[in-house]
Amino acid sequence: MRYDVLIIGAGPVGNYLANLLARDFKVAVVERKGSLGGKACTGIIGAENYERLGLPESAVLNKLRGAVFYSRIQSFEIERKSPQAYLVDRKALERWLAERAVGKGVDYYMAAAFQGFKNGKAVLQRFGERIEIEADFYIGADGVNSTVAKAIGAQTKGEFLSGYEAEVVGNFNPDFVEVWVNKDINPEFFFWVAPVSERVARVGTFGSLDAFHRFLKIRMLKPTSIVEFKAGSVAFGVRKPWVRGNVALVGDAALQIKPTTAGGIVYGMYCAHALRRALLDGRLGDYEKGCFFVKKQISFGLRFRRIFKGMSQDDIERVFEVLGSPEAREVIEGQADFDDHVRTAKAILKRPKLLARLIKISPAIVRNLL
Ligand SMILES: Cc1cc2nc3c(=O)[nH]c(=O)nc-3n(C[C@H](O)[C@H](O)[C@H](O)COP(=O)(O)OP(=O)(O)OC[C@H]3O[C@@H](n4cnc5c(N)ncnc54)[C@H](O)[C@@H]3O)c2cc1C
Repeated sequence: MRYDVLIIGAGPVGNYLANLLARDFKVAVVERKGSLGGKACTGIIGAENYERLGLPESAVLNKLRGAVFYSRIQSFEIERKSPQAYLVDRKALERWLAERAVGKGVDYYMAAAFQGFKNGKAVLQRFGERIEIEADFYIGADGVNSTVAKAIGAQTKGEFLSGYEAEVVGNFNPDFVEVWVNKDINPEFFFWVAPVSERVARVGTFGSLDAFHRFLKIRMLKPTSIVEFKAGSVAFGVRKPWVRGNVALVGDAALQIKPTTAGGIVYGMYCAHALRRALLDGRLGDYEKGCFFVKKQISFGLRFRRIFKGMSQDDIERVFEVLGSPEAREVIEGQADFDDHVRTAKAILKRPKLLARLIKISPAIVRNLL
């Protein structure tokens, strides 16, 4: 069988891309696993982009209106009138996208693991059997440890982190996500508590399993109240190139991931649109240019991450004092954008009083963010 486009990996981004391409191309998707979904992922997606990307209401488990930020010794709350983020069932989202793609004529090959390219064809392994599929274009949407990236020699010096995420039974405010920043427990990343309902929340972090367990204790959640536990990985950085010959990378495979929060679903889908345009124009080389917004956000996020890693918990406490002030909260509540962190930072730094206070904590913070 020969296709115009073969997508390797049926995660949210691969399935989304299959839908985008189905009308204009003969498309196939190959997936290593025998079923969709199941990856460690909290499934928080910015509400505005969820709607804009046309994703299904049926996969939304909860709508989040605000966030409570905790440091070691203080906390502040950001509350909006309308939902800012959705907590999504990844399996339901991926099934919905795949079923629609099949309905549009896309062929799926499940339980088929891409092994590499040979004589211009993709070589797959399916239950011990070797299959070859030929296509004009190959798209690696196979996640952070992409085999397609390896096959085209794409390299990264990015930072790889292990992530732990559990569904825990307890008592939660279903409207608010909790964000805990405590470098004494976890110097690598923040902790999140994202409620699915009043009774269940998805609790996670990136770093060590020990840090995760220490957080459960502080948050007064019992390890024995965990009803689902998953581990996964994420990488922050740049992987190059995104295109080599007739092969392109998209989503986590191209490290299109926010280094601020580790969210990758929206950025991968944004870039899927740019990839579609480049394929339609027959100019795969233009794909990266179409991802300008995502590249700008990633480069900001990497600077933000460097600052975060260089800060002590005392610095964090002082930044919390600024961000928890009435003026900063007013800016965040009025102008913060879930997926556009450059805009959010600019809005804060435009306020002379906030800018002066942040410079006092560390001029490097402001210099790097600007
Ligand atoms: C703990 C944790 C929490 C997260 N929370 C969030 C969140 O709240 N919001 C958010 O936006 N992002 C979150 N992320 C990141 C998010 O999971 C990724 O950005 C997202 O899954 C990227 O989608 P993708 O389709 O590019 O890749 P993936 O979801 O990784 O999908 C890749 C697919 O390719 C398949 N595959 C891999 N290798 C092969 C092969 N050789 N042959 C065939 N198929 C293959 C895999 O089985 C998989 O189905 C989180 C990540 C982690 C680890």
